[in-house]
Amino acid sequence: MPAIAEEWLNSCAGCEIALLDLGEPLLDLLPQLEFVHIPVLADNKYFGPLGRRKRLSIPRAVVGIVSGGVRNSEHLEVLREMRRQVDVLVALGTCAVTGGLPGLADLPGQGGAEGVRDFVFRQSPSTVSGSGPQAGNEYVPDMLPRCTCLAEHVKVDLAVPGCPPHPDWIAEAVLSLLEGRPAVLPDRSVCSICPTRRTGSGDGRIRRMLEQPVYDPDKPLSEMQCLLEQGFLCLGPVTLAGCGGRTGAPRCIAGRTPCRGCQGPVPHMAMPFADYMGALAAAGIDGTAMIDKPGCLSRFNAAHRLLQNLEVR
Ligand code: SF4
Ligand code: SF4
Ligand code: SF4
Repeated sequence: MPAIAEEWLNSCAGCEIALLDLGEPLLDLLPQLEFVHIPVLADNKYFGPLGRRKRLSIPRAVVGIVSGGVRNSEHLEVLREMRRQVDVLVALGTCAVTGGLPGLADLPGQGGAEGVRDFVFRQSPSTVSGSGPQAGNEYVPDMLPRCTCLAEHVKVDLAVPGCPPHPDWIAEAVLSLLEGRPAVLPDRSVCSICPTRRTGSGDGRIRRMLEQPVYDPDKPLSEMQCLLEQGFLCLGPVTLAGCGGRTGAPRCIAGRTPCRGCQGPVPHMAMPFADYMGALAAAGIDGTAMIDKPGCLSRFNAAHRLLQNLEVR
């Protein structure tokens, strides 16, 4: 029975909830798996039951699943130990694959590592300002200069993006490993499966997300004009499909809301930001009029060094 270890690093636990949300497929999978380490469900002391081990350790496993990016020295230590202890390492969720939302803190003017540390451990309403144990350095791991995705530190064998990933793809990833075959995961853009109607026309004005798109709630998505053509900065052209699972429409589009890019970029797109400018131009929108380009275009990629470097500023 293959042993599985799961870890969460700079994670909100949404990916773990998605793992548990597998539902019936999980019940089918559980008899075939042995979870030897999964902090979201079971306590497992890194330094042994009595804390006497000299170094952090995770049990040996065939598959390691890691969610969240790497923000501090503890995350990095756990990730490296995970890599040592497993044969196959799966990056679960956009934070693990491209850094996800936490990378936004490292964009220019957003405070960076020290800003995060200051807010979380000194200034936040839930912190005893300046006096609780978290306020000092003693119990808080060192912050790294910036938040990073897993692949910047260790070899990742399989990436399952999504914020969180749809349970269909988590099940496919685990099944493919059990069956010894390549995982069949989405590789096209959100636009490629979006049912909205493209008309090739729009007024070229950029609309704020707070504005209401034009659609008839009693008519299907196929009757709604493409949101990009309506002037909303929908990131569907450069975002990986799959958020709706194997058969569902893109989740935000189904909710009549523009895609914000949470699945991360389409892997084969060499320059997603340049491609996005092209998509804007095709919809008659002047991309240079966008405000906060990094915040919009790097919302889920800012912690990925290569994608960050390609950012349009
Ligand atoms: S990818 Fe999304 S759901 Fe998963 S840990 Fe990151 S923020 Fe949470
Ligand atoms: S830009 Fe958005 S609304 Fe338009 S086709 Fe692509 S995903 Fe759909
Ligand atoms: S439509 Fe875009 S932002 Fe919304 S869930 Fe899907 S990939 Fe994420």
